[in-house]
Amino acid sequence: MKLIFEQSVAGRRGVKLPVSDVPAKSALPQQYLRVKPAQLPEVSELDVVRHFTRLSQRNFSVDANFYPLGSCTMKYNPKFTEKVAGMSGFADLHPLLPQLKGGEKYAQGALEVLFECERWLCEITGMKAYTMQPLAGAHGELTGIMLMAAYHKAKGNKNKKYVIVPDSAHGTNPASAAVAGYSIISVPSDKRGVMDLEKLKAVLTDEVAGLMMTCPDTHGVFNPQIDEIARLIHSVDGIMYYDGANLNAILGRARPGDLGFDVVHLNLHKTFATPHGGGGPGSGPVGVGEKLERFLPISRVIRRQDGKYALDYDHSDSIGYIASFYGAFGIILRAYAYMLILGKEGLRQTADHAVLNANYLLYRLKPYYQVAFDRVCMHECLFSAAKLAEKGVHAIDIAKFLIDRNIHPPTVYFPLTVKEAIMIEPTETESKATLDEFAEAMIEAVALARSTPDVFHSFPLKMPISRPDEVKAAREMNVNFFARPDAR
Ligand SMILES: *Cc1c(COP(=O)(O)O)cnc(C)c1O
Repeated sequence: MKLIFEQSVAGRRGVKLPVSDVPAKSALPQQYLRVKPAQLPEVSELDVVRHFTRLSQRNFSVDANFYPLGSCTMKYNPKFTEKVAGMSGFADLHPLLPQLKGGEKYAQGALEVLFECERWLCEITGMKAYTMQPLAGAHGELTGIMLMAAYHKAKGNKNKKYVIVPDSAHGTNPASAAVAGYSIISVPSDKRGVMDLEKLKAVLTDEVAGLMMTCPDTHGVFNPQIDEIARLIHSVDGIMYYDGANLNAILGRARPGDLGFDVVHLNLHKTFATPHGGGGPGSGPVGVGEKLERFLPISRVIRRQDGKYALDYDHSDSIGYIASFYGAFGIILRAYAYMLILGKEGLRQTADHAVLNANYLLYRLKPYYQVAFDRVCMHECLFSAAKLAEKGVHAIDIAKFLIDRNIHPPTVYFPLTVKEAIMIEPTETESKATLDEFAEAMIEAVALARSTPDVFHSFPLKMPISRPDEVKAAREMNVNFFARPDAR
């Protein structure tokens, strides 16, 4: 054991670590001791390389495949941002350093990145200040609702019980509001796909703490009555919460702050091209306007008079710590590099091309699939497979068919408001050739569904696993199955 250790990382760096004289056997409780030797495979380096290379190739990723997963904005993650995140000045920095006495001066660059990234996000969203701490969109939602609660508490608004959420909302919205202690009022959408204004008015009372909205909403539609909604919510001293998952559609064109929102979360891993999927890493910075600034989590990053950056803990109204250290720093750094390289005009073009690509697919697929809302869409287009389902081919079957074509399925069965929903978000980073290839596969699926619907039930045919019980797979994940070298 000692030998192996000294040859390992610490050993290579010349660090001599103390090795205990007490034999492990007598130090550990009997029940934890191994009774027979571990069955470690004895394989050559080449076998190991092949094993892991094969495993990596099973990964369905943006780098390898078109990934039009609606609402998730799975855009290309440029490789130069990886390079920036790997620079030793950032990557080797100890996260405790800025908190230690006198340590700040060694972390000026990193603090500057946090400070400047906040400023860019303020400008982009029309907010006054940001916290970069939340580690995902959902975490940002919880943070935002806690800020909302702190606001009502400070104002003595004791009767605030409800958060309004449109029925098209992402499940994390009502969940976050419920975790923060609010009850949920769900407001239905109208025929155009936007929140029904009359139904909103009907449920609006003094007891409403705020409203959570995705804008453009998860139907891919921009709500033309957004300012009226903000006026209504503010009339009962409610807070307007902006779920930023769809910012990609309006980046550089419209700012949530100007639309009447008081608090915003962004998903850097969606709009700002940082990697995601498989549960992380994420980053969900939260921005606020004047009303909520004093409640932001600590620590806050400040620039002092002398131009030096520091951490500031002196905020007595703060909701406190929301994450360890300063958030997902490596992700924030990638997003900041992405913003700098694109600049103001580049960011705006991002949104323009995302919307153009989605409308191109809407136009190409409209003759073959029912559209949920027949209008120009924003950055994602929404179809329904309800007609095909009558023939026994459901949205999930179309998804499985696409997998065999090496295309990641679009989002299916979300939003819940549309039967057999197929929600496609191509993003701005795809070429016309890729969009055409996808459209042709989708069109072929319809033809096949009409001629031989039964074949769909065995798709996908080319994958190591075909149709797992998805709930069971999520709850009782068996990663060993995938690791088996003989697994197809
Ligand atoms: C992705 C998403 C979220 C949650 O964001 P995470 O970063 O996955 O936690 C919330 N709302 C909408 C509309 C989303 O698409």
